[in-house]
Amino acid sequence: MSSNLAQLKNDFITAAARSYNKSIQLGNGGNISARVPERPHMLIKPREISLIDCTPDNLIVTDFEGNLIEGNGLPTKEAYLHGMLYKLLPDIGGIVHCHSPWAVAWSLEGQDIPLLTQHARLKLSSPIPVLPIDSPVVGPEHFPEIEQKLRQDTRLEAFVLAAHGSVAWGKSVIAAEHNAQLVEECAQIACLRRMMK
Ligand SMILES: [Zn+2]
Repeated sequence: MSSNLAQLKNDFITAAARSYNKSIQLGNGGNISARVPERPHMLIKPREISLIDCTPDNLIVTDFEGNLIEGNGLPTKEAYLHGMLYKLLPDIGGIVHCHSPWAVAWSLEGQDIPLLTQHARLKLSSPIPVLPIDSPVVGPEHFPEIEQKLRQDTRLEAFVLAAHGSVAWGKSVIAAEHNAQLVEECAQIACLRRMMK
């Protein structure tokens, strides 16, 4: 294993553990990936493994269609979504998808998540879109809707799948995890503000 891949696995495991420990993903749901540098491949969580149980030995490498390249186990069912985003956004290095409770709660209203804090406005380009994709797994039939949204706002760093979870990305898997946490923070503040009104 190259030292690059070993470092990528370390960063992946750090991002996965933080996501679990901060409760933006519990149980064995959600998934994370990291682009393997200079290869059309991604490091990705295997199916059924909890984010807190990811280790250098159980992570797998697939191509952008989800075909297994290295390791054992089945890739997460959302591998197609991850691969589609890497192909569409050549500068991103990591993706975090999680069923973060505040973001999911807000998404049930069908409105984009507003950026109510100075920090959020500094970090994110626009309100976080909520996409009404009515499926537990994002498939190729949903890609045109996602692609259209990304082409409308090329600085976008996240969206939320309604009644499902957030999808956040960044230059690295650690940056993607930061964005996923920020999406949840924005949604929590939006929900709390609505309760206080
Ligand atoms: Zn999901």
